[in-house]
Amino acid sequence: MPLTEAPIVPFNRAYITGVEQQYMTTAIMNGLLEGDGPFTRRANALVAEIIGAPAALLTTSCTHALEMSALLLDLVPGDEVIVPSFTFVSTATAIALRGAVPVFVDCRPDTLNLDERRVEAAVTPRTRAIVVVHYAGVACEMDAVTAIAGRYGLAVVEDNAHGLGGRYKGRPLGSFGTLAAQSFHATKNVQCGEGGALVVNDAALIERAEIIREKGTNRSQFFRGMTDKYRWVENGSSYLPSDILAAFLVAQLEAIDDIQRRRHRVWDAYDERLADWAGDRGVGRPTVPDGCAHPAHLYYLLLPGLPSRQSLLRHLAERGVRAAFHYQPLHTAPGGLRYGRVAPGGCPVTEDVADRIIRLPLFAEMSDAELDLVVESITSFSGPTA
Ligand SMILES: *Cc1c(COP(=O)(O)O)cnc(C)c1O
Repeated sequence: MPLTEAPIVPFNRAYITGVEQQYMTTAIMNGLLEGDGPFTRRANALVAEIIGAPAALLTTSCTHALEMSALLLDLVPGDEVIVPSFTFVSTATAIALRGAVPVFVDCRPDTLNLDERRVEAAVTPRTRAIVVVHYAGVACEMDAVTAIAGRYGLAVVEDNAHGLGGRYKGRPLGSFGTLAAQSFHATKNVQCGEGGALVVNDAALIERAEIIREKGTNRSQFFRGMTDKYRWVENGSSYLPSDILAAFLVAQLEAIDDIQRRRHRVWDAYDERLADWAGDRGVGRPTVPDGCAHPAHLYYLLLPGLPSRQSLLRHLAERGVRAAFHYQPLHTAPGGLRYGRVAPGGCPVTEDVADRIIRLPLFAEMSDAELDLVVESITSFSGPTA
């Protein structure tokens, strides 16, 4: 057995503010363990306030908030929805679950966001909506996306899993779509292990959103005394988390500014300290266009090719640094081929980026020693240049 354990920098370490336990104890003492108790209402209000939305409803996940969006848009089999191929599967499964067709559009080579210049060519008479993902919390080109949506009468939904606290031209991400989906999964900036929220920017949809989230019943209205009995009124499912989980999340939401500040310290240090090394080797760093303020959700490098990416991942693993890569293109995945369709021109940038990207460890409480180890491990890499 080694005398000293080699240091390990994990990819993620979920941040705990220290207040979670107190709030959860209060929730337990309240005796209201189901959903929509006082902590859920407080969390809803905090999310709505951060985004400047008329309403936000806590959900069990971002995936479920996306599924609720598909129900609220009344997607039916044969409808098409434009989505990026470079995203997490839930962006597409929410559409496929309704029998609708996700149409995969390529991403921009700089921000890795949905390429707004390729959206229009993907529109057909069956297109109903555009789902944007603000990758790494850097905004999509929302002026262009909104203009295209307006021209063809399409809804815009934001998968804002990365973007809470981010802005586009001063306006909060999550406020652009008719609906937006947030994630509070343990790997996200603000988290409660598993959780999410549906942000409702069109006030006319709030009541239906409440019904869909409460198993298709008007139970929310019943509890507000607006009806004398509650019953099944439309399609829905069980999308609300326990108030105990909401209590945990409230502690996190109240600390959002502190969390973002801590994450920016790491993000900014990576960007500054890796600039020369990356520049010398033709390695790409994140692009943040003018007008975009991002919440430091993730930091990535784009290596010259697959051999150098794999080699750097091994080099880092040998030094105890847990880096990662993601997203496997959806348009070539078995599920994407079965349920979706690729837009004209294909997704060559997505395929290329998926082979070259490396995500570095990034969490709020990263120590100076951990940061140094990651930076030094990278700058000591002299592996393949392709
Ligand atoms: C994390 C993530 C999701 C899924 O979030 P859950 O809360 O785990 O369902 C969806 N989309 C994107 C872009 C994500 O990063």
